Parts: sequence; C-alpha cells; structure tokens
Amino acid sequence: MKKLIFIATITVIMFASCTKDNNSEISLSDQEKSDLIFLRQEEKLAHDVYVYAFGKYGISIFDNISNSEDTHMDAVLTLMNKYNIIDPAAGMTEGVFENDDLQLLYQQLISKVNLSSIQALEAGATIEDLDISDITSFYKNTTKADIIQVYDMLTCGSRNHLRGFTGQLKTLNSIYSPQFLTVSEYQTILSGSHEHCGK
Ligand code: MN
Ligand code: MN
Repeated sequence: MKKLIFIATITVIMFASCTKDNNSEISLSDQEKSDLIFLRQEEKLAHDVYVYAFGKYGISIFDNISNSEDTHMDAVLTLMNKYNIIDPAAGMTEGVFENDDLQLLYQQLISKVNLSSIQALEAGATIEDLDISDITSFYKNTTKADIIQVYDMLTCGSRNHLRGFTGQLKTLNSIYSPQFLTVSEYQTILSGSHEHCGK
C-alpha cells in the first residue's frame, strides 16, 4: 500500500510538472524579444510602403506583396501574443512607427517611391534585401522552433518578393544591386525559382 501511494504521488508530481510546462511559462531572452519587436515593425514598413506605392502607381505587384506582408505581420504578432510581448504596432496607422530608425527609413523609401515607378520597384527590392539580411542575423539569437518556423516563412516570402521586384525591374532594363545581402547570397536567391512558403 505504501508503495502504491508512493507511485501515485510520483505520478501526480510528474503530471503537475508536465502541465506546468506550457508555452506561457517559457520566457524569451531580451534579444529574442527585441528581434520580434523589430521584425513586427519591419514587416509593417514593407506593408505600408507597398500600400502607398500601389496607391500611387496601381502596379499589381505592390498590392499582391502588401497582402503577403499582412500575413507576415500577423505571424510575428501571434508569436508576440504567445510570449506576452506588447505589440509596438498596436494602434499605429500607416506610415507611423514606434522605432525611430524604421520611421526614418520609411520616409526615405517614400521619397524614393515618389520619384518614379522604377524607383518604387527598387525601393521594394531594397526592403526585401534588408529584411532577409536582418532575419538571417536574428536566426543566430534563438533556438526556439516556433520562432525559427516564422523566420523561415518570412525569409521564404522575401525571397519570392525579391525575385518579383528584380524581375519587374529587369523587364524595364534596370538591374538591382544588393545593399545588405552579399552578392553571392543575392545571386543564389535570384537563381532559385518561386517557393511555396508554409505558415
Ligand atoms: Mn515580409
Ligand atoms: Mn516582403
């Protein structure tokens, strides 16, 4: 009987520790948190610039890709909610950012978009170039499978977007040179074909 009680007690302890081990108990490092906070706003920057560019030129690629950025923003928000991180984009209208660097970058990109449709497509390529480069560095700061899964989905999308923008530029006899990715990383992406990016 003593043995039975002992086993029952152990089982209860094991069960209790298992149920306690849910996601909300796992905490992220400050770096993981700040990466997600930044990324949520960087995806918003992409979204807001493309919405603006579509409004100005009516080129369908901006509409299609802005919808994809919406999905990316949602994917990052889902992670932030899961880990109880306050959303820096909550209540922020189009073109408004909590992060000062991204606010400045947004103004610079909008100035470029205003110059011409070719400059607008270049701004798009630049955003994707930066996005892939930033997320590539964020991978080094986490081992969490759910975060890596979102990074995979976002970089997959960005590679498609980069091929989309540079492809349209090519038809207009304009060649995009990478500003953040290395030439070899950039060439590898361009030589790939359209990918299906899981959620
Ligand atoms: Mn994106
Ligand atoms: Mn993109």
